Amino acid sequence: MATDDCIFCKIVNREIPTEFLYENDRLVVFKDINPLAPIHLLLVPKEHIRGINDIADGEWDIVTELVMTAKDMAAKMSVDKSGYRLFFNVEKGGGQEVFHLHLHLIGGWE
Ligand code: AMP
Ligand code: ZN
Repeated sequence: MATDDCIFCKIVNREIPTEFLYENDRLVVFKDINPLAPIHLLLVPKEHIRGINDIADGEWDIVTELVMTAKDMAAKMSVDKSGYRLFFNVEKGGGQEVFHLHLHLIGGWE
């Protein structure tokens, strides 16, 4: 898919207005529009990478940064102690619908 057609590239480029809960040079964090839990955040690299199967050698640092940022966001959202889940959906069979790498953070259950 061309990055022109990619909904997360449009969010990153602010063509689709979305509130960022966190942003730095390499990634953004925003709420999932269709939450699976009381807290459901998406952590999205600014660079268009199609998914986990498409990360090139030398690009894996972004995965560490996504996970570290997720840990910090869990604390910021006060679900670090109660607990949370982090996951990547990979390809259609794994539930991936948006083909721009993203890490899900869900939590906040009673
Ligand atoms: P996945 O199934 O892993 O590809 O996850 C894609 C996620 O993106 C889904 O949970 C959608 O609810 C979410 N999503 C799609 N469009 C938007 C949007 N415009 N803003 C926020 N989240 C979105
Ligand atoms: Zn993209």
